[in-house]
Amino acid sequence: MKIHEYQARDLLASYGIPTNSGQVARTPEEAKSIAAGIGKQVVIKAQVHTGGRGKAGGVKLAGNPDEAFEKASAILGMDIKGFTVDRVLVADAVDIGQEIYLGFTISRDDASIVLILSAAGGVDIEEVAASTPEKIAKVLIDPTVGLQPFQIRQAMFEAKIDKQYHKAMGDIIRKLYSAYVGSDAELAEINPLCITTDGQVLAIDAKMTIDDNALYRQTELLGLREAGADMDEYEKLAKEEGLTYVHLPGGNVGIAGNGAGLVMTTMDVVKRAGGSPNNFLDFGGSATQEGVEKGLRAILRDPDVQGIFINVFGGITRTDVVAKGIVEAYDTLPRQVPIVIRLTGTREEIAKEILDNCGKPLVFAASMWEGAQKIVELIGKGAAGA
Ligand code: GDP
Ligand code: MN
Repeated sequence: MKIHEYQARDLLASYGIPTNSGQVARTPEEAKSIAAGIGKQVVIKAQVHTGGRGKAGGVKLAGNPDEAFEKASAILGMDIKGFTVDRVLVADAVDIGQEIYLGFTISRDDASIVLILSAAGGVDIEEVAASTPEKIAKVLIDPTVGLQPFQIRQAMFEAKIDKQYHKAMGDIIRKLYSAYVGSDAELAEINPLCITTDGQVLAIDAKMTIDDNALYRQTELLGLREAGADMDEYEKLAKEEGLTYVHLPGGNVGIAGNGAGLVMTTMDVVKRAGGSPNNFLDFGGSATQEGVEKGLRAILRDPDVQGIFINVFGGITRTDVVAKGIVEAYDTLPRQVPIVIRLTGTREEIAKEILDNCGKPLVFAASMWEGAQKIVELIGKGAAGA
């Protein structure tokens, strides 16, 4: 479960982490009156369950209450990566000297918690991670032992944090770890952890994701759950249509199949082939023509989708019927993109013949790996994200 920045800030503050103060507004009038109360420059920040708000225009400075009204009007109602902004945080603006990235998350490969620290924090952290990973210090923490003081020092030395801030920052790292473990978080991130021009270390953003399986014992956090708040507009529409669909914004390959396990595996295999999955879509046990058509329409809503990989395990399902259905549906789809179809099961030779001879960019694949490679070949690798 994701929580909003203002909720995460409250949580971090309760662990003693210093943040700039602020309040939530749902209308421009409220934003104006909060700004008047603060009495100096404020920052107006969209509160949505997604990152990258700054780049999307969802974070703006306002010098006075009238400007706060204006900036809040612009941000409220804005769409950020499929999420509509219904509230903003109005916070005391800070004079930034340096932006640090600090986070804790789980490293599944290492069966550990990982502390991540970088002096090159801020809105371009993904770019830093991709092009200069050496600027990011990572320290693995055995969860049964907990974070040790030497590990905090190690991270600060590796990240080349100026020594004069070690004490304040070390304290924040220790407290963030307590907050992370104490709230059963999967991710706790402060980006930026700001060193102000007058030398204070302050959290001016906060992002937390709580492990859903632990919510039974996180009763206070459970109260922050908002129905549908984790869903973007694509997911909401798909849900209304009765589809099992999860969106992965930024990807370029639509993914569909029958059975959740098969679809998840398909996503992994496409990723391994160098592609970037845009979604998860499960047709359910039987891939009927109507179901397949409805699913393809939902996938194609995102203009980033440049091709689709359908992976159907036929079993006793007649794969020739599925193939025919896809061929017939193809021309009625809102956009015609290449589709690779892996069909295995009853009458698959006939399914292959139907696809080979249909005169449309529908490509038969005999195996999941072949299909993943084919779709990536057809449309390219796409964005690195997702
Ligand atoms: P995100 O883009 O969703 O991660 O939102 P952030 O809260 O991290 O804000 C994005 C960027 O806006 C930060 O990296 C800062 O550069 C800038 N920003 C945020 N708060 C302030 C502030 O109080 N003062 C100033 N000068 N810049 C801010
Ligand atoms: Mn941020």
